[in-house]
Amino acid sequence: MVSSMFYNSVNLSTTVFSRTHFPVPVYKHSCIDFSRYDHCINYKFRTGTSGQSKNPTQMKAAVAESPTNNSDSENKKLRILVAGGGIGGLVFALAAKRKGFEVLVFEKDMSAIRGEGQYRGPIQIQSNALAALEAIDLDVAEEVMRAGCVTGDRINGLVDGISGSWYIKFDTFTPAAEKGLPVTRVISRMTLQQILAKAVGDEIILNESNVIDFKDHGDKVSVVLENGQCYAGDLLVGADGIWSKVRKNLFGPQEAIFSGYTCYTGIADFVPADIESVGYRVFLGHKQYFVSSDVGAGKMQWYAFNKEPAGGVDGPEGTLSLDPPYLF
Ligand SMILES: Cc1cc2nc3c(=O)[nH]c(=O)nc-3n(C[C@H](O)[C@H](O)[C@H](O)COP(=O)(O)OP(=O)(O)OC[C@H]3O[C@@H](n4cnc5c(N)ncnc54)[C@H](O)[C@@H]3O)c2cc1C
Repeated sequence: MVSSMFYNSVNLSTTVFSRTHFPVPVYKHSCIDFSRYDHCINYKFRTGTSGQSKNPTQMKAAVAESPTNNSDSENKKLRILVAGGGIGGLVFALAAKRKGFEVLVFEKDMSAIRGEGQYRGPIQIQSNALAALEAIDLDVAEEVMRAGCVTGDRINGLVDGISGSWYIKFDTFTPAAEKGLPVTRVISRMTLQQILAKAVGDEIILNESNVIDFKDHGDKVSVVLENGQCYAGDLLVGADGIWSKVRKNLFGPQEAIFSGYTCYTGIADFVPADIESVGYRVFLGHKQYFVSSDVGAGKMQWYAFNKEPAGGVDGPEGTLSLDPPYLF
């Protein structure tokens, strides 16, 4: 079924054609740039796992060592293909770009990045992650920090879900201050991804580019998209999330393990009385816990983790009936 989709879809968007400094998209009928990779012409979706073992260590080393392909007498820049334009893929792409690599990010659905509001809430960025971002791009890190809400200078930790008494308070401030690291912030995922996407550049991120497979040619790697396009590069980074196709094709199929907990989340217009002293609080209960975090601008984000079977479906308008009908 997937292969029939592949053979029937030759729908190249004009936007992609206009991106000239990237590897030319290679078609099953017109293998322009990397014609020796004839799998791009006669490509079939692989269903088995045999022969799929690649060497991830080699791939890593190539990133760490040098932005040039040493075997190439012209000292050509390495081309890095990144599957997935989430936080991981974009941060990696930014770092690689700043190091002088040519980068191309394939994102299957940019609305997952830009269509925020419905499904994705804020994310806490710890001091060490902020420091890593500073090392990659100081301007971007400062923009992220300006947009974030500082929580690391207040009390954060775990409380009893019924009495509200503190079990443990996390001091993330002292170790950060001692090491001269930025203080932990919370930021909207959408804002974060927009800042990262802007810094990476529109010309580098290809939207509606669902990676379905890749092929390792030894000195090159080619990526196959659902729409029939095929791109070649020197290196492929799989940043395509928990259901990663790259990981599946590299290591074979492996099911994600369900934690047993389903997470419900939302953002409330609410300012608690202790907002000045508490950043976030995790209320622990029996087979359920609840997190409330200041996310700035008079809003609190909450997560409710409930132990229940996988595959639950929301009721009309997102309502949920619990049995028993309470969380704590
Ligand atoms: C409820 C919850 C709260 C969390 N809170 C925090 C927190 O406070 N702080 C923190 O540091 N972490 C937190 N995390 C973890 C954090 O969200 C993840 O570690 C992070 O989002 C992983 O980023 P990623 O880019 O690797 O993957 P993802 O965010 O999953 O991004 C993967 C991207 O790849 C794209 N993609 C997928 N398949 C393909 C394909 N075949 N082809 C092309 N594109 C594809 C997707 O559309 C997506 O844009 C939380 C997670 C959860 C569930």
